[in-house]
Amino acid sequence: MDIRNLSFDELAQYLISIGEKPFRAGQVFEWLYKKDASTFEDMTTLSQPLRARLAADLRFTPAVIADQQKSEDGTTKFLFELSDGQHVEAVLIPSGPTAGRTTACISTQVGCKFGCRFCASGVAGWKRNLSTAEIMTQVLYVKRAAGKKRPLSHIVFMGIGEPMDNYDVLLKSIHLINSGKAAHIAARRITVSTSGVVPKILKLAEQDLQIELAISLHGYDNPSRDVLMPINTKYPIEKLMEACRAYGASKRRQITFEYILIKGVTVTPEAPAALKKLFKGLLCKMNLIPYNPVAEYPHQCPSHPEMLAFRSELEKAGIHATIRTPRGKDVNAACGQLRHAHQKGNHMASSFDKNG
Ligand code: SAH
Ligand code: SF4
Repeated sequence: MDIRNLSFDELAQYLISIGEKPFRAGQVFEWLYKKDASTFEDMTTLSQPLRARLAADLRFTPAVIADQQKSEDGTTKFLFELSDGQHVEAVLIPSGPTAGRTTACISTQVGCKFGCRFCASGVAGWKRNLSTAEIMTQVLYVKRAAGKKRPLSHIVFMGIGEPMDNYDVLLKSIHLINSGKAAHIAARRITVSTSGVVPKILKLAEQDLQIELAISLHGYDNPSRDVLMPINTKYPIEKLMEACRAYGASKRRQITFEYILIKGVTVTPEAPAALKKLFKGLLCKMNLIPYNPVAEYPHQCPSHPEMLAFRSELEKAGIHATIRTPRGKDVNAACGQLRHAHQKGNHMASSFDKNG
């Protein structure tokens, strides 16, 4: 068992079980989450016998970076090699010129079983869930890479995988990220993005956590959403919107709808009026995401004037929408693209950097 799979209470219980005082849990957490220890040996405020006992009972798997690419805009993508040889990616997104934020985009699964027909993460199917330790390794690595000048301030679960399909691990990781004893990032700075796993949205609504919810909507009615997202046949758009209303009502927070811009599929003349109907009475905002081409799919991203025209049609329908500037376009920065390129063997050898 990797030590970063343990909650604070679980660690305290374990320490009691080996005859240690529970306050040692605070010291260990400090080494893990604040003082950036990489081995048990680094934890010099613990006695030598305790360090040896921890090393005998628990693992502390180091992060292995198989590939790293830094974009011109400062976005850096890290490809993590896991202990079973699988790969996932995490992205460090420095603040734009106006917003003072530094974001880590984190993966929750190896691959994805949801198979959205525009996304690189689903192309090779689903392999397995990540553990809490594998999620925390990404968070801590990106936090370290961000440094102290512009420290990590936000977490988005928008990497590879469907976070709600690894719900228990997701929740445990969020508690660790949020906890003052661990990574200490405010809940409202943590965003979970989902393709629309309705029962889990409802479950999350019941949690006493003010985290941000983002919905990958990518369609304006059942037929348009069915084309891109197989999950819509299981949880159709009206059920999804009901769950969003429940989440919004319970948290009194606005929900973000992500909407991929694909010519003739999501960008159509009927979309704005249909979206207006969907969003009626809901506190929400909309992010328009230009489609990032993936070779396996035939879609086309609209031209810039077409995107602007679509946004102004939305504004006319009373929907405020922001076109997201693609970050790290030169480094396969859309969801799952670096891992996918790596699997196909065509990642950029020139930017290969073994040690990160
Ligand atoms: N599985 C979750 C979180 C990961 S995807 C979800 O689907 O919400 C993060 C975001 O990137 C989603 O909104 C997803 O739809 C979007 N995305 C995936 N592939 C993309 C592509 N090729 N171009 C633009 N956005 C993409
Ligand atoms: Fe999975 Fe999200 Fe990609 Fe869909 S968009 S295949 S749910 S990672």
